[in-house]
Amino acid sequence: MNTLLPTSTVGSLPKPSWLAEPEKLWSPWKLQGDELIAAKQDALRVTLQEQLNAGIDIVSDGEQTRQHFVTTFIENLNGVDFEKRKTVRIRNRYDASVPSVVGDVSRQRSVFVDDAKFLRQQTQQPIKWCLPGPMTMINTLYDGHYKSREKLAWEFATILNQEAKELEAAGVDIIQFDEPAFNVFFDEVNDWGIAALERAVEGLKCETAVHICYGYGIKANTDWKKTLGSEWRQYEETFPTLQKSNIDIISLEYQNSNVPMDLMELIRGKKIMVGAIDVATNTIETPEEVANTLRRALEFVDADKLYPCTNCGMAPLSREVARGKLKALHDGAAIFRNELSN
Ligand SMILES: [Zn+2]
Repeated sequence: MNTLLPTSTVGSLPKPSWLAEPEKLWSPWKLQGDELIAAKQDALRVTLQEQLNAGIDIVSDGEQTRQHFVTTFIENLNGVDFEKRKTVRIRNRYDASVPSVVGDVSRQRSVFVDDAKFLRQQTQQPIKWCLPGPMTMINTLYDGHYKSREKLAWEFATILNQEAKELEAAGVDIIQFDEPAFNVFFDEVNDWGIAALERAVEGLKCETAVHICYGYGIKANTDWKKTLGSEWRQYEETFPTLQKSNIDIISLEYQNSNVPMDLMELIRGKKIMVGAIDVATNTIETPEEVANTLRRALEFVDADKLYPCTNCGMAPLSREVARGKLKALHDGAAIFRNELSN
């Protein structure tokens, strides 16, 4: 990136109400067949325009073509039965009825490549594409086949690598893997989680990112956050291994969290997408608040590696609030960019 402090969002943005019921995760589509395909493309155009209007530098599809950041990818794989459901605990936090792994997993077809090509046609700006990470994928499934979390993660890593290579060929500049599970299963992250992620990015020439957060602003997550105490030191467990990995960018949650900022020191040398926008509140940050967060981050990350971002996806927010937050992110970054260049 030639721009200093390039802004971006973690990934998901609100969907228009004609596409799916707003302010809701797993919201069902309102259309079907060809109408749905056309509507998703229209929504992608709208979400892109919202980002461009706000002045966001690295744009995304706002995840307009997927119902959920993990499930939609898995729906396109062989070996997973969505009818055969079991109740499991998601990231040790809440129970959910999930599909079962019933056979060897493989990719039936490209999942997001057509969408990525469509986004590429619409803009000259750098584009970022999100995929779920291997460890977060295994945590949304019941595995009655491999009966090994590690084995299943490696299988998913191979599949993700196939998809990522096609996304790169479609002109995606940054491929991001969402790994909220990295904030929960520390021993596994260090034993094989980061290694599986490196398998997923093997051979890629585009930039790669991993997003690690404390989850969407839904009740199960905000309740969990209340139990984490006055200092959230989860990143401390995984950053030393990530620092040694070949992932280029780490996207982390910071704004309104209890994450001690000095933990960023542990990934010195990496580019850091610093969460300067809280996605769990409807209160829109002022540009000065955003600038302040970035000013403080500069103590732990070099200016050319500082990427202002949101804490997580904004899918559950209203479009109006998300629009305000995009603008605040842009304006706050602009204030600080000015200071740095003077
Ligand atoms: Zn997140």
